[in-house]
Amino acid sequence: MPTAKSSQAKKPVRRRWSKLKKVEIEELFSRFEQQRPDPKGELDYSNAYTLLVAVVLSAQATDVGVNKATGPLFAIADSPEKMVALGEDTVRDYIKTIGLYRNKAKNVILLSQKLIDEFGSEVPADRDALVSLPGVGRKTANVVLNIFFGQSTIAVDTHIFRLSNRVGLAPGKNVDDVELALDKIIPPAFKRHSHHWLILHGRYICKARKPDCKKCIIADLCKFKEKTYSVPAPIVELSSYENKQQKPTA
Ligand code: SF4
Repeated sequence: MPTAKSSQAKKPVRRRWSKLKKVEIEELFSRFEQQRPDPKGELDYSNAYTLLVAVVLSAQATDVGVNKATGPLFAIADSPEKMVALGEDTVRDYIKTIGLYRNKAKNVILLSQKLIDEFGSEVPADRDALVSLPGVGRKTANVVLNIFFGQSTIAVDTHIFRLSNRVGLAPGKNVDDVELALDKIIPPAFKRHSHHWLILHGRYICKARKPDCKKCIIADLCKFKEKTYSVPAPIVELSSYENKQQKPTA
């Protein structure tokens, strides 16, 4: 017969998904929505295939750096067939300004060949199928599913990981933990664009070394002990044109 103490010990500990209250989470995302009603990613692409390649190339690289390399590359190869015809050496030459370019060139050719062989040259709108492609992990798959296929996926990159922990929005020890917490706490109405809102806020305002708390529209909601300001900045709607003018810091 279990004692009162032992049955208490077995009680599962319920995880608290956010340090913010439900009403604060709603408020936070409604401000992001007001600021950027139609947020866009900053990688250049013309179809699902070029988006997939651009996202694969963007690992540990800036979007600006990737766009510089993919502009000329996609002008001559915007389909798996054209990319395979170019060959690994030529692809490597086009992307040599991007970090890890040797491995990335190899993966671009391998994933293109696999798309031709197994997916009728189409990019699949399915996470399991996407992660079966060389060089495509869960994060890359989530970005493609969100941006191109309009799915409410969240790809936790360095900005989202930092922001989720700092603000207390969805604390977690690793990216999977944070992704799970974000999935639990973000209200359905805000899920589709939350990925972009969080990335852009992390990239331009809540920067890694020096968060710009004075310009932060969620300063009053943020639970970061070292924040330098607690008064929210006025919400100014940013068009995607204005977004492009800001310098990336990643
Ligand atoms: S108040 Fe500062 S630390 Fe908090 S989210 Fe805004 S910029 Fe980041």
